Amino acid sequence: MKKEDYEVFGISVENIRNKNESQVIRHMRELIPQFPEFDYCSICIQDVYALSLNQLSPRYIQSGTIVLKKELTEEDFKDIVEDSIEQVLKNKNHPA
Ligand SMILES: [Zn+2]
Repeated sequence: MKKEDYEVFGISVENIRNKNESQVIRHMRELIPQFPEFDYCSICIQDVYALSLNQLSPRYIQSGTIVLKKELTEEDFKDIVEDSIEQVLKNKNHPA
């Protein structure tokens, strides 16, 4: 994607995206080796990455009528990436 693809009314949201992406990548490197059945093919790696990024968005906490954005912790990223690895292992996108 081009840099301007990350702009909304001239404001760049690229940093927020990059921050989450690099956290997901770091946790993938750390957590995937804990799953001996993971096959390390490009389809599975990309699926874990895409699933993890998809799960980052709905992390909001409701406080009364105001929805506050919850700051993602190390533990949140770990849970999200672990959950994505498990989902990919359960529903492989390619024949075994
Ligand atoms: Zn695979």
